[in-house]
Amino acid sequence: MLTSSNLGPACLPDRPWRKTMAAMNSDPGYLQRARRIVEEVVAPHACDVDRGQFPRTAMRSLGAAGLLGLTSAEDVGGAGLGLRAAAEVVELVGGACGSTGMVLCMHYCGTAVIERHGPRAVRAAIAAGEHITTLAFSEAGSRSHFWAPVSTARAVPGDRIRLDAEKSWSTSAGQADSYVWSSQPVAAQELSTLWLVPANAPGLSVPRPFDGLGLRGNSSAPIRAENVLVDASAMLGLDGGGLDIMMTTVLPHFQVLSAACYVGLVDAAVTGAVAHASRARFAHIDQTLADLPTIRAFVARCIVKRDMARALLADTLAALESSRPDALLRVLEVKAAAAEVATEVTELAMRICGGAAYRKEVGVERQFRDAHAATVMSPTTDLLYDFIGKHVCGLPLL
Ligand SMILES: Cc1cc2nc3c(=O)[nH]c(=O)nc-3n(C[C@H](O)[C@H](O)[C@H](O)COP(=O)(O)OP(=O)(O)OC[C@H]3O[C@@H](n4cnc5c(N)ncnc54)[C@H](O)[C@@H]3O)c2cc1C
Repeated sequence: MLTSSNLGPACLPDRPWRKTMAAMNSDPGYLQRARRIVEEVVAPHACDVDRGQFPRTAMRSLGAAGLLGLTSAEDVGGAGLGLRAAAEVVELVGGACGSTGMVLCMHYCGTAVIERHGPRAVRAAIAAGEHITTLAFSEAGSRSHFWAPVSTARAVPGDRIRLDAEKSWSTSAGQADSYVWSSQPVAAQELSTLWLVPANAPGLSVPRPFDGLGLRGNSSAPIRAENVLVDASAMLGLDGGGLDIMMTTVLPHFQVLSAACYVGLVDAAVTGAVAHASRARFAHIDQTLADLPTIRAFVARCIVKRDMARALLADTLAALESSRPDALLRVLEVKAAAAEVATEVTELAMRICGGAAYRKEVGVERQFRDAHAATVMSPTTDLLYDFIGKHVCGLPLL
């Protein structure tokens, strides 16, 4: 049975965070490259992306700058950096554009699985910045309970596997080059098996485009698989080993990187709100919004919340890097905290900026809409509270 104790850092076998500190110092250029792309590409395109355009140009630029292969191993041409570096880049990108930040976050999550279990050719393509991947876990049947796919994988003659599924959401659906895909096992009695599914596999379709409240450019559409045939070698890990990979490899990456994306978004919302409050004037009394004590108190609350989320993110990375006993607790907490902070701070930022926030030009309304995906991306905040409660009470998570 899966218990909180066997999900601890001791069973996080790849531990890419371990080598991060040393490796970061040998490649100080990655953050400069990320900043340049954010300034020149991500931020200028954020409004187009918010109108529903997938951030293709930004992803190409990130690929060309070696940032899509940031966490790929050096022996396949990647930068060989770890979770801390990825979190720094996702935070920067997410601060300028939530959609692009989340596309990058899911790419790094899929990459973590492919790096450990996938074929060398795909690993090399990711490292070269020529391949975008993502996770396709959520299903219409099991909804946010990603650990229990109801979709099927059946062995067919010719050492092939037939996949059938109604995936309910996948970031970069119809845009990525591959999906890290969950299904029920072929023969094992466990909950799931993972596959690397090429996006151009016949039988895969995106039944309808994404038209959401926020993260509108990240193409989080459903994906249907009808009689999709993949080689048996497309299996990632063991038949029935899906849950283990989800919990040991995907969970730390997704929790940390999505938290980083939302910390970036929160920081941008606070910065925008402070700039507006300092600029917007009451001409008849010659004061700015920032001269109002209530507005300053709202700003202070935003800053405190932002810094709490950022400190927890830093502590989670430190816990992972040193295999601290509380690493799993921190991993579970970090996205729950970032999601709560993101919705709370962006709502406060809307209040600080008043009616002006209702219009596009202040930028806060986009961050407010983007922030709300944090709570419902699985593990949702409610699921995380349940997991955290079980973990600290010594109960199995599932
Ligand atoms: C922008 C966006 C991008 C996404 N990208 C991806 C992706 O790349 N890959 C992917 O696989 N999925 C993705 N998802 C899907 C996401 O991970 C969730 O699976 C999805 O949002 C769940 O929606 P639902 O309507 O099925 O929720 P439901 O499962 O119906 O949940 C409804 C409510 O019930 C609560 N709830 C459910 N179970 C429990 C429980 N046991 N205890 C307490 N409360 C519970 C939930 O927290 C939620 O508030 C994305 C979603 C969004 C919004």
